[in-house]
Amino acid sequence: MDKPMGFYVLTLFPEMIQKGCDNSILKRAMAQDHIRIQAINIRDYSGNRHGKVDDYTYGGGAGMLMQAQPVYDAWRDVVDHISQEKTDISEPSAKRVRTIYVTPKGEPFTQKMAKELAKEEELIFLCGHYEGIDERVLEEIVTDRVSIGDYVLTGGELPAMVMIDAISRLVPGVLGSEESAETETFENELLEYPQYSRPEVWHGKAVPEVLLSGDHKRIEEWRRIESERLTEKVRPDLFERYCRRQKVISALMRHKKENAYMIDSLMRDMADILYADENVVAAVHRVTRVVMLCLDSPEEFEKLQPFLPEDCHLILHNCEALAPILEEKLGMKAGDACYQSVYTQKNSLSVAYKNIGLFPASKLDYAVENYGGESEREYLKDRIENKELFAAFEGDRIIGFAGSHAGGSLGILYVDPEYRRSNVGSSLACYLVNLALDRGGLPYAHIRVSNEASLKMQEKMGLYLGKKKIFWMYKKEN
Ligand code: SAM
Repeated sequence: MDKPMGFYVLTLFPEMIQKGCDNSILKRAMAQDHIRIQAINIRDYSGNRHGKVDDYTYGGGAGMLMQAQPVYDAWRDVVDHISQEKTDISEPSAKRVRTIYVTPKGEPFTQKMAKELAKEEELIFLCGHYEGIDERVLEEIVTDRVSIGDYVLTGGELPAMVMIDAISRLVPGVLGSEESAETETFENELLEYPQYSRPEVWHGKAVPEVLLSGDHKRIEEWRRIESERLTEKVRPDLFERYCRRQKVISALMRHKKENAYMIDSLMRDMADILYADENVVAAVHRVTRVVMLCLDSPEEFEKLQPFLPEDCHLILHNCEALAPILEEKLGMKAGDACYQSVYTQKNSLSVAYKNIGLFPASKLDYAVENYGGESEREYLKDRIENKELFAAFEGDRIIGFAGSHAGGSLGILYVDPEYRRSNVGSSLACYLVNLALDRGGLPYAHIRVSNEASLKMQEKMGLYLGKKKIFWMYKKEN
């Protein structure tokens, strides 16, 4: 089983955290070793006989402020403890542990942020009290400042618990059925549909007939309509974003195989639309910052150019005639031309080779040796840390691996020469297709035009090649 996700809470009221988290699902998750929650009393680091940790603010004003030194010492101790644990189990050296200061002055906490944070191995939360904390220590140790809403609480313990709760339920194994975290409110920018349980009639109100029909298609449709209705009424801001996105996706769907990279990113809510009309769409991927363009004719570029971000360093597009224009106007250089293969069905593929699981971090060297060498080390490490690389095992031995690229395409495929004529490679690829479907995306891969072996395998698996090639363009180094 995976290592439990570690939550470390720096607080003046550790009991609040301990008691608040030791119930229900979080309690079970701790007992089953999916998560670990540890509260650290900042007062233990006061260096003062009376355990004093606060003082007056410079410049006057009401209230006390938590001082820098005790907070820093408590944090240092936790960070040392985490790296000590990593050395003990001979993991690659620790990257900087994310330290979240919960504060009303922070970025709003969202489901999307919860998902992103659930990928970390550990998180440190810093809870303020009184008027807050000396800015100098925040500058030194904090990586993220997060608010749970536009109101002011007396302390950071409740916000830390709110975040721990929301993040924990996205950690694999914490919820009974993984599906229950996938279909609910905020997935696809919609609020969840109404739900009903037994009895069928209560206080004269009957459960909607469709839910008793057993017809899954109709049920899904009913739920989507109800979600849309509720979101429009309660959260018009979310609904407006959702409608715009859906409109763009439907237009792109007319050429599914040519526009797959854009469709997938939008379906999975991984990209922000920069510009869209009937003929062109420009969007930027939130993680990779790759600018994606879908257009038929290079003349359309003029319309969208003003909307491109200034730091645009990598462009992905599907219009061959656009390359010279990007070179001239943006100083971009043409990289690889690829075919795009797309899985257009909704049903999952059967995975013949069953022994597939997350790629173990301790085997990073194996991935580096067999996929691109040292120049890919950091990237592969990132893929492993993001739980996006999967290995096929025979006993403990890895006999192949495959993963999703940061932009969402399937790839990074390697199979040990001994197993190349078996079903290991196609099983890994099918496994990734299923995962992409589960995540509500459109599974696709980019294959270099010259890679005939891979093109053949994709076709065998039922992926279709788009007619148009797609092109990567890079910013020229000066
Ligand atoms: N003086 C601060 C200000 O005006 O921004 C408010 C400090 S508040 C009384 C004390 C502590 O509670 C903060 O340091 C923070 O850790 C926590 N806190 C209060 N409201 C919060 C919110 N909406 N989100 C996250 N943390 C909050």
